Amino acid sequence: MDKQSEQKPFYSSPIEPIELKLNSVIQFDCHKNISCFNACCRNIDIVMTPYDIVRLKQRFGLLSHEFVGTYTTPYPMDHHDMPGLKLNTKPGTTECVFLFEEGCMVYEDRPAACRYYALGSMGVRKKDVSQVEDIYFLVKEDHCRGHEEPRTISVVDYREEQGVDVYDEKNRDWRDVVLKKRSSGPTVGRPSDRSKQLFDMCSYDLDSFREFIQTEGFLEIYEISSDQMSILVRDEEELLRFSMQFLKQVLYGEMTIPMKPDAREKRIQRMRERMQASEE
Ligand code: SF4
Ligand code: SF4
Repeated sequence: MDKQSEQKPFYSSPIEPIELKLNSVIQFDCHKNISCFNACCRNIDIVMTPYDIVRLKQRFGLLSHEFVGTYTTPYPMDHHDMPGLKLNTKPGTTECVFLFEEGCMVYEDRPAACRYYALGSMGVRKKDVSQVEDIYFLVKEDHCRGHEEPRTISVVDYREEQGVDVYDEKNRDWRDVVLKKRSSGPTVGRPSDRSKQLFDMCSYDLDSFREFIQTEGFLEIYEISSDQMSILVRDEEELLRFSMQFLKQVLYGEMTIPMKPDAREKRIQRMRERMQASEE
């Protein structure tokens, strides 16, 4: 046993095993003059959320698929290969693709994971309680000197200071979808390829989703007023909210978007016509 593990006989993970609530107080600060400045960005493993992508694609003026193709790498989020994305590192390194000499080049639009650090969070569904509860904890890594800074701050104030509250709000429905999928267990709820494609589009490709909701096939089934449609077409944050409603409806059967009364019949008719056309 080496010296370090002798000192930490029960615990070698950087996560401090203390559950924090919103009103808990932590001792932490991070600023440009700290000796470890940017050390946390040199060895990253950042899972991207839908709202991270909205903010960053807008910052660069890119389409979703352009941003995703340039700055992220796909990975399987679970044993059913639900599509996830991780932020890219610079070639041959573990350093964030957005890290430059002076610091983070996308600081105002940095992903949720960067805003959280050195706070961690987890959504837990306790027994006999339907709502997901957020718990927090501190991540104390050896390279991070922020824990030695004298400043104390409550978890709720830290979240607000870092803009985490806004990101969590925008990503809440997505997190619900992901948690629901995870809690369905390893054999129940194996998604079809079509479900995975829809999850991928709704989560990471809002430009395609915007086109999708304007197709004849979509409008034939769902009740969308022209006012609502014009909001969805021009406001990406509203579009993200709507895309998660749609996902909840198609993956879990939640009636989040009103359907047209004759939607089912029209759909069957269209499928018949398609089959007939392909036979001919
Ligand atoms: S996005 Fe910015 S803050 Fe986040 S890891 Fe990269 S350089 Fe660091
Ligand atoms: S104090 Fe921690 S979070 Fe801040 S720059 Fe240093 S390593 Fe990163």
